[in-house]
Amino acid sequence: MKPTHIEHIGIAVKSLDEGISFYEKILGTKCYLVEEVKDQRVRTAFFMIGQTKIELLESTDPEGPIGKFLEKKGEGVHHIAFAVENADTSLNEAKEAGIELIDKQSRKGAEGLNIGFLHPKSTKGVLMELCSK
Ligand code: ZN
Repeated sequence: MKPTHIEHIGIAVKSLDEGISFYEKILGTKCYLVEEVKDQRVRTAFFMIGQTKIELLESTDPEGPIGKFLEKKGEGVHHIAFAVENADTSLNEAKEAGIELIDKQSRKGAEGLNIGFLHPKSTKGVLMELCSK
């Protein structure tokens, strides 16, 4: 799948407002985007650090993926997203390499990117996201 860089690191937070003010303070940079991704039942907030982003994720539904994550594990790192040329091609390559996929095909994520997730069972316990423009 040969990623070009780490696109973003996803961090689950209980409150986006509190998360934003905390990260603005420690990163010394303003959140540049708040976006709801209905499909994933989250509200997201983004910070730019070089070419890598920090994505804060607040659940809009306790039954959604972030709602369940917060319930089980509490706040913290949720996933790492790699930038790739083409998310669908990379998902296929991962599948051929024997990695279990959460998304067989890419879907639209925040910022209009094409995204797809690999199952953490197959990736040493790390939830990995692949994204392309
Ligand atoms: Zn993400």
